[in-house]
Amino acid sequence: MNERVWVNFKELRAKLKFEDVLQHYNVEVNRKGDQHQGPCPLPNHSGSRKSPSFSANLERGIFHCFGCGAKGNVLEFAALMAGVNPDDGDALRSVAVELQKRFVPQGTGTRKKAVSQPATPASKPPPVIMNAPLDFELKDLDAGHPYLLGRGLTHEIARHFGVGFCSRGVLKGRLAVPLHDAAGKLVGYAGRVVDDSTVTGENPRYRFPSRRERNGTIYEFRKTLFLYNGFRIKAPCDELIVVQGFPSVWWLTQHSFPWTVGLMGSDCSQEQAELIVNTVKPSGRLWLLPNGDKAGELLAQSFLPQVSAARFVRWLQLEEGQKPTDLAKEELKSCFTR
Ligand SMILES: [Zn+2]
Repeated sequence: MNERVWVNFKELRAKLKFEDVLQHYNVEVNRKGDQHQGPCPLPNHSGSRKSPSFSANLERGIFHCFGCGAKGNVLEFAALMAGVNPDDGDALRSVAVELQKRFVPQGTGTRKKAVSQPATPASKPPPVIMNAPLDFELKDLDAGHPYLLGRGLTHEIARHFGVGFCSRGVLKGRLAVPLHDAAGKLVGYAGRVVDDSTVTGENPRYRFPSRRERNGTIYEFRKTLFLYNGFRIKAPCDELIVVQGFPSVWWLTQHSFPWTVGLMGSDCSQEQAELIVNTVKPSGRLWLLPNGDKAGELLAQSFLPQVSAARFVRWLQLEEGQKPTDLAKEELKSCFTR
């Protein structure tokens, strides 16, 4: 009864239909030719699930998400959906056995031998550490890069946030933005392209740290667990401005509104909503100042229901196409007067 099923991974991959596997995990298949495209279904996906960042080549059996950066073959996809590490051989094998049982009819060749032996207990998933503090710091970032100065940001503000152009390593050619958790520990860097015309599916506007494994431990990064600039704000405060991206935080700080935090996307997570509510006094007030676009609207839809019962909040709606960084100091001042 407890037989160890033989799995030929290569053959299994060839026989599995990606379409079946997607449906198995309740993903609605949206086929365009060979491709499926849709919101990312992976449980570890960070960021918006509203944009179609995920694509799978159904014929070649491979997938890629330009939102969270996950990619691989159909078996690795199944492992990620099952919440196990695809690099863990035993865990991957148990996922493969399940898929084989379900989707590859017996007698078609993958079940080559069945040796009677005690069942191996389902392997324990490796420990996962979220937002571990970094043990290094990027040096020699250029705080005077034209991207920053061209947007009216001063050297001082770039230095205050530790932002600068990176000419080495994985963030080479990008603006590196240090990210700190609520306790103020450096937990990673975001990398922003400095030329928006180079943005493609392979070269996203922002890069965040990717999942990595070291000594049997998985290190994950989740920007949804903290607020950008949140650690610099001393709670409880009377007023807090909430924006979408890094440049808005820099801009508002430069214009004497240092009590500004960024949500780093068009979603506000439950953790972020709690952090925000806890930063502001019960008698205080919140200003939501997202970009004047679809993403800004999505952010408001996600943010407002989560905080409006707990704190007084006002959504400052910008005109279509406008961003907080387009507002001069006087305009900003008039935004935040009662
Ligand atoms: Zn994803």
